[in-house]
Amino acid sequence: MTKRKNAGTRDRPESGAPTTAGLDGEARAHAGDGRPASDASDPPELKSLDARVGELLRSELWDDAQEERYDRFTRLAARIFDAPAALILLFDAHRHLFKSRFGFQLGRESQELELCRQAGAQGTPVVIEDLAPGVDSSADTAVSQPRNIRFFAGQALCADNGEVVGCVALMDFKARGFDVNARHTLVELALLVEEEFNLNAAMASTRAGMAELLDRDAALPSATHIIAYEKIELLVEQAGNAGRKLGIFYLSLDNLYDMSLAYGPGRIQAMINRWMDGLRNHSENLIYIGRLSERGFVGAFEFEGDVRAGRRLCEQLRVHAQQEVEHEELRFSFEASAGLCVSPDHGDSGVALIGRAQLAHENQSWNNETSLFNAAIAKRFRRRSALRTRFEAAVEDGSVHFHGQPIFANADGALVGIELLARWQDPELGEVSPNEFVPVIDPEKGPRRALVAAALDTACRYVAAWQARSQFVPYITINVSGAELFRQDFHELVEDRLAHHGVSAEHLVFELTERSVIRDFELMARSLRRLTDTGARIALDDFGSGYSSIAYLTRLPISIVKLDKRVVQQIDAQGPAEELAQGIVALAHGQQLAIVAEGVETQAQWETVRAMGCEYTQGFLLGRPQSEDALLALIAEQRSNATEQADPQTAPE
Ligand code: C2E
Ligand code: CA
Ligand code: CA
Repeated sequence: MTKRKNAGTRDRPESGAPTTAGLDGEARAHAGDGRPASDASDPPELKSLDARVGELLRSELWDDAQEERYDRFTRLAARIFDAPAALILLFDAHRHLFKSRFGFQLGRESQELELCRQAGAQGTPVVIEDLAPGVDSSADTAVSQPRNIRFFAGQALCADNGEVVGCVALMDFKARGFDVNARHTLVELALLVEEEFNLNAAMASTRAGMAELLDRDAALPSATHIIAYEKIELLVEQAGNAGRKLGIFYLSLDNLYDMSLAYGPGRIQAMINRWMDGLRNHSENLIYIGRLSERGFVGAFEFEGDVRAGRRLCEQLRVHAQQEVEHEELRFSFEASAGLCVSPDHGDSGVALIGRAQLAHENQSWNNETSLFNAAIAKRFRRRSALRTRFEAAVEDGSVHFHGQPIFANADGALVGIELLARWQDPELGEVSPNEFVPVIDPEKGPRRALVAAALDTACRYVAAWQARSQFVPYITINVSGAELFRQDFHELVEDRLAHHGVSAEHLVFELTERSVIRDFELMARSLRRLTDTGARIALDDFGSGYSSIAYLTRLPISIVKLDKRVVQQIDAQGPAEELAQGIVALAHGQQLAIVAEGVETQAQWETVRAMGCEYTQGFLLGRPQSEDALLALIAEQRSNATEQADPQTAPE
C-alpha cells in the first residue's frame, strides 16, 4: 500500500503563495508517470497504533459504501471548478469503491481507476490538462471503448497515518487549464474529505465503546482519537485507586462544522487550540480535555460531593466554552452542548463512561444545559440497541410486515389509495411502533434499506394480485426517508422490484416528510424527478408540522400534500390551528396540488376538512390500518358500490 510520508504536514501553501516546485512540477504528470501502488513499499514494522487506525478507518469507509455526506464534496468540487464530473474513489491494492460520484461518467471505470491510482501515488495533485481523445486501449473487452475524459485532476486522500486510501478527482470532456490556485484549492478540498474520513473512524470507535457498554463482545476501540480514550481510562483508574470522584463529560461544539466551512479547517484548528487553553485556564478542576471526533470533545474533572455538584461544575464549563474566542483577526463563539457521567457512580471503565457521557449528551433538554446520565437513559439506550440489532432479521423472517390504511375521496367516498405502514411484533420486545423503530434505524445502513425494499415488494405484490383479479387498483403509498433518496442505488431498487412483479410505477406514491427534503434541495429534486419520470408520484407528508415552505411545493415535483394529523386534530379545538390549516390548503391549491387530510378521527373534523376543500381523507374515522385480507374485502366492496352506481336502475342521471 502506498504511503504518503508527510501526511500530517502536507504542503499546503498559503493562498496566493507562489507555485512550489513540487506542486507545479509533478502536477503535469501524464499517464504512466505515477508509481504503481504496492504493498512492498510499506515499512515492515508498522506502528501498532497506525495499523489499528488504518484498519479501522478502512473497514468503516468500505463498510458504509456510498454515504451522502461525501456527495457534498463532489458536488462542491464540480461547482468550484465548473467541471461536469467529480468523484471520490477509495482503493487499495485489491479493490476499489466509488464513494461518491457527481455528474457524468465520462470515461470507462477502468480508465477512471487508472488515473485515480496514478494520483494516489503522488503527494501533490496530478493534473492532465489535455488527454488526447482516442480509444481506450486499456479496455479489457475485445471492443475498444471511446475515451471521453479530456481533462483530469486528482489528489490523493490519506488516512491519519499517512496511508493512501483513495483519490478525489475532477474530470471534463474538454481540455482545460488548471492554474496553481486551482491546485491549492484541490489540496484544500482533499484535506476536508480526509477530515470526513476521520469522522468515520471516530464513529467506529464510539460504536465499539457502546458495544462494550452493552456488555457484548466488542472490538477494542481504536481510532485516531484513541489517545483520548486511553487518557480517560488512565484517569479513571487513578481516581478509582485514590477514591476520588471524576466527572467525565462529552462536549460538542455544535457549530464547528459550519465554522470550518466558513473559515477553513486550518484557522479553525487554531481557534480550537485557543479555546481549549481558555477552558484549562478557567477551571482548576479540569484535568483533561481532548478531541474525540469532528466536533466532539471528551474531558475529565475532579470534584467533591454528589453527582449534582458534578453537574453544576460541568455546566459552568459548558457555559465558559461558549465565550468568545479570538485569534488573529477572527472572533466568534462556539455553541456548546454537554453530557456528563460520573466515576465511580456510573461506571468504572473509561470507554463505558465516555459512551455514557455521549448518551447523556444525546438526551439534551430544550435549553441545552448539561445533561446528566441516569438509569432511564441507560434503559432507553439498551432498548434502542436491541431494536437495531433485531430489526434486520425481523424484516427477513416476516415479523416486520405492513398494514394498509385506506385513503378516500371526499367528493364521492371512493377508495383512491392505500398507505403502507410498517408493523413489528417482536417475541421479546412485544409490539413496536414504527414511531419508535423507524427513527433509530440508521438511514444509511442495510436495515433501513431492508424496510424500504420490503415495502416496495409488498406494494408491488398487492398491485399484481389485484390486477390479476381484474380488480380496481388504488394507488399505494410508501414512506421513504430522505437519506434513501440520496442513494444512487435507490432507483435501481425501485426499477428492479417493479420489473420483478411486472407492475407499473404509476400505481406508486412515495411519501416524504418535509424534514427530509430540506437537506439538499437540488439533489433531492433530481432524485424525485427520476422517480416521477417513471410515472410514480410524490406526496409531501406531515405538511404543516414544521417549516411548510412554499419552496417545497414549487421546486419539487410533488403532486400530493398530506395535511399533518396534529394540525387536523387541533382544528376543532378552536384556535390558530384552523387558520394554519386554511393557509396550508390555500398554499397547496395555489400550486394545483391535491390535499389529503390525515388523522381524521371525528365527524366534526371530517366536515371541517371537507369544507376547507381538502380532496381526500385518511383517518381512523373512515378506516384504520388493516391487513391484506381486510384490504381485499374493502376493494371488493368498492367494486360492488361502483357497479351499483353504474347500474342505470339505481344510479341517478
Ligand atoms: P405517517 O407516515 O404520518 O403515518 C400516519 C400515521 O398516523 C400512522 O401511524 C397511522 O396509523 C396514524 N393514523 C392514521 N390515521 C389516524 C387517526 O385518525 N388518528 C391517529 N391518532 N393516528 C392516525 P403509524 O402506523 O404508527 O406510523 C407512524 C409513523 O411511522 C408514520 O407516520 C411514518 O412516519 C413512520 N412509518 C410507518 N411505516 C413506515 C415505513 O414503512 N417506512 C418509513 N420510513 N416510515 C414508516
Ligand atoms: Ca406517511
Ligand atoms: Ca403523516
